Amino acid sequence: MENVVIIGSGCAGCTAALYAARANLNPLLLTGEQPGGLLTTTSVVENYPGFPDGIDGTELMMRMQKQAERFGARTQYGVNITRVDFSARPFKLRADDELIEARAVIIAVGASHRHIGLKSEGLLERKGVTYCATCDGALQMFRNQPLVVVGGGDSACEEASYLTHFGSKVYLIHRRDQLRASKIMADRVLNNAKIQPVWDSVVTDVLDVKQDKVVGVKLRNVKTNAITDLACAGVFVAIGHMPSTGLFKGQVEMDADGYIICRQETRTNVPGVFAAGDCVDRVHRQAITAAGTGCAAAIDAERYLAQLV
Ligand code: NAP
Repeated sequence: MENVVIIGSGCAGCTAALYAARANLNPLLLTGEQPGGLLTTTSVVENYPGFPDGIDGTELMMRMQKQAERFGARTQYGVNITRVDFSARPFKLRADDELIEARAVIIAVGASHRHIGLKSEGLLERKGVTYCATCDGALQMFRNQPLVVVGGGDSACEEASYLTHFGSKVYLIHRRDQLRASKIMADRVLNNAKIQPVWDSVVTDVLDVKQDKVVGVKLRNVKTNAITDLACAGVFVAIGHMPSTGLFKGQVEMDADGYIICRQETRTNVPGVFAAGDCVDRVHRQAITAAGTGCAAAIDAERYLAQLV
């Protein structure tokens, strides 16, 4: 029987593991499909306090995990939880051929990339359509080619800046005429001669499914309805994220978009089940805020467990 199982090993999960370990709860940290979470797909993290020169996203996450393990957190990789049952105590987490029972659970499963939703987008994924410039930007197929980034937030700006190292030109396709990104990121993009914003436009098709590779996109100007084709070798979609909470549907309260609803600090509607990080937060979604709520969830779990005995 586990005291605390933490599901997800991004900033929220690792910080929860650190605090739970230091409270002598001997927590079990399940990494999920993407150990270290979304931050491992970022290049340099410039806004995590304590690193004035920035730090590589993967390195930051490895350090967080190591810090938690130093105090006794146990990390388990590759456990694919397929079902949870929070209707009775102890809580039950079922993996492929394993049953884990826990007195308390911290859900820190984060979020995954939102897709545009086009059929051609799905068919050309990994054939020029990607959701991670850091992971794929350096691929030979994108070198010295025109590239497209879709989105107007910090992620899109970060991806566009990064891709200027590889592509001949980067088009930033945004559905409005103003970026959502923070001013510093937006200014960086707008002052980069290699990046050309394409305002008020949405991608209506990725070309070309018949050739089985990306050769361009079809765009619609949302103000004029004009349709144009834009040649490119890669489409980097950066239009936000969706909480990865499907596993918990019907088990804890969530809103219509799948964000877990916390009633009091990190407490879900099920006593003993806590939630932290991007699977809860639709507003701030920063590494540091995820870490903060991970810390809070561990403290809340510790207090919950103390009153059980
Ligand atoms: P975001 O801030 O939610 O921005 C998503 C962007 O995609 C918006 O510009 C949005 O347009 C657009 N969009 C959404 N759905 C779309 C659709 N179906 N078709 C076309 N465009 C669509 O997401 P994000 O950029 O991934 O950032 C998430 C959070 O992480 C933010 O809080 C951000 O500050 C943070 N972040 C920070 C950094 C950093 O500081 N280094 C880096 C990356 C992310 P509208 O603007 O019209 O809504």
